[in-house]
Amino acid sequence: MGKDFGVTPPPRGRGWGKGAVLFPGSFDPFTLGHADIVKRALGLFDSVLIAVGYNEQKSSWMPVEERVATIKKLYADEPRVSVESYTGLTADFAVAHGVAVIVRGVRTMADYEYEIQMADVNRQLSGIETILLPASSQLTSLSSSLVRELSRFGHDVSEYLP
Ligand code: ADP
Repeated sequence: MGKDFGVTPPPRGRGWGKGAVLFPGSFDPFTLGHADIVKRALGLFDSVLIAVGYNEQKSSWMPVEERVATIKKLYADEPRVSVESYTGLTADFAVAHGVAVIVRGVRTMADYEYEIQMADVNRQLSGIETILLPASSQLTSLSSSLVRELSRFGHDVSEYLP
């Protein structure tokens, strides 16, 4: 009895409360796939903090302020969702906001390989754990890059956006 498996408990939430989860991404743009992850994360956590990442060195399709404003508008009636932009390491942003868990979506094996590496790095950096949610079957082919590409060629992309 009482065997010690050397498990270090993750840091408890501060500020956002222990039931908060961080959903980081580029969201360039925010698609139905992202909205599906937010909806499902709300079923698992008390609140979701959507963190819109940007890199000053890289140009984006939609300016970060516009991405944040669009997502804020979408969740204007959902007090359990908040939206902020950030630059730099996701792990640092999570710690600064007292969030101990990250949620990400996985569509393909390629996503999975990338996500487990990021999850491991974030856990080593700050003890943050990552929950991976499998994409809903009807949304596995949907990506922001697909929306950008279709839009570039004048295709109506509204069916992919919430
Ligand atoms: P990043 O640029 O950081 O990969 P994205 O904005 O492309 O961020 O995506 C954010 C997260 O949402 C990622 O974990 C990605 O796998 C997930 N995601 C994107 N599209 C979908 C989708 N259709 N279904 C489920 N998860 C998705």
